[in-house]
Amino acid sequence: MTNTPGFNTLAIHAGAAPDPSTGARITPIYQTASYVFNDADHAASLFGLEAFGNIYTRIGGPTQSVLEARVAALEGGTAALAVASGHAAQFLCFHTLLEPGDEFVAGRQLYGGSVNQFNHSYKKFNWNVIWADSTDPESFAKAVTPKTKAIFVESIANPGGTIIDLPAIAAIAKKAGVPFIVDNTMASPYLCRPKEHGADVVVHSLTKFLGGHGNSIGGVLVDCGTYDWLGSKHRYKTLVDPNPSYGGMKLAETFGNFAFAIAARVMGLRDIGPAIAPMNAFLILTGIETLPLRMQRHCDNALAVAKHLQKHPKVAWVNYAGLEGNASYALHKKICPKGAGAVFTFGLKGGYEAGVALVGGLKMFSHLANIGDTRSLVIHPASTTHRQLTDAQKVSAGAGPDVVRLSIGIEDVEDIIGDLDQALAAA
Ligand SMILES: *Cc1c(COP(=O)(O)O)cnc(C)c1O
Repeated sequence: MTNTPGFNTLAIHAGAAPDPSTGARITPIYQTASYVFNDADHAASLFGLEAFGNIYTRIGGPTQSVLEARVAALEGGTAALAVASGHAAQFLCFHTLLEPGDEFVAGRQLYGGSVNQFNHSYKKFNWNVIWADSTDPESFAKAVTPKTKAIFVESIANPGGTIIDLPAIAAIAKKAGVPFIVDNTMASPYLCRPKEHGADVVVHSLTKFLGGHGNSIGGVLVDCGTYDWLGSKHRYKTLVDPNPSYGGMKLAETFGNFAFAIAARVMGLRDIGPAIAPMNAFLILTGIETLPLRMQRHCDNALAVAKHLQKHPKVAWVNYAGLEGNASYALHKKICPKGAGAVFTFGLKGGYEAGVALVGGLKMFSHLANIGDTRSLVIHPASTTHRQLTDAQKVSAGAGPDVVRLSIGIEDVEDIIGDLDQALAAA
């Protein structure tokens, strides 16, 4: 491969080679807690960050590092860190950037679990989220203060797959002099590479489209190598201060354009400990090999289902960015032209009861709280994930009584539509 390989090729080959000791063609599952040192000098250089190598599976391992190289290549980043879940990736991201009392600005159109993590758990560290409106880039500029250390959004956001104007928000992050972090879970790097739109860090739940088969939890953060830690007007202590646990080393000085990924590993993952299991890294790697094929089918099926529902007499509205006339349609063409994702919401004329009946009547769709599986998935948020909210809160979270959320799978589209039609007829 002389030129830079294409996306399909990278999805299969990036980071991997036949196993040097056995010749195994597929990256093996290195199911071991620790790795033997060659000698005392080797051990000392590994612990001193003077050489790269395997020490202990909490900090990394060969299966995990192929996954990291694969995702870094797909996102166009310099390095990546794979961890136990998407939430762990987000946590280590902010653990690397923030000190107590610092703030970050986040667009409020986010995965519900992220809203909880930011509002409640981060408060224990005195990391303070300031909410902005992801559909209004200017609201980020207004929310920035001298304490702001980062800006965070999703590329395709909840609810209903709203597509976010990444270049506009990246410009505000640049002006504020802070790193721009993008959760690219709903798009995957097949539909959108946030680095090309100004992101400095990309995070993913590997549990969703990258793994793609609903069989393992994982997360990853990608260092785009674009943020100048040493030149910043802000002091990101983990990156620029002399590090007492590594003989006074300054990570940004030593590791340059992949210092963020190193810092998240050797400080965050080392001390907090949310390591990904080698088995999960293996399953997710296998999933990634077919990401481009799956993602295109997910999007093509989702568009066909959305168009069908739009014409259905029992359906009040359909919110899918791939539909002409949708508020996100122009951004879909700009940010993720190959497809508008697989997740969208629609409303039933029959309200809450019709939503409950529809979910109960579907036969092939699985009723559960996940997205990005090969299977088609459904949830009625008002009676499940958003049950505890007041009616007004439900509506403002996009989870009104009539709202149904679909994650369209890669089955035959006729079967997906057929299942929805029979359940709608009964609802
Ligand atoms: C699922 C999800 C997460 C959290 O990931 P986990 O792997 O469940 O921890 C974060 N962001 C988005 C957009 C998600 O869909």
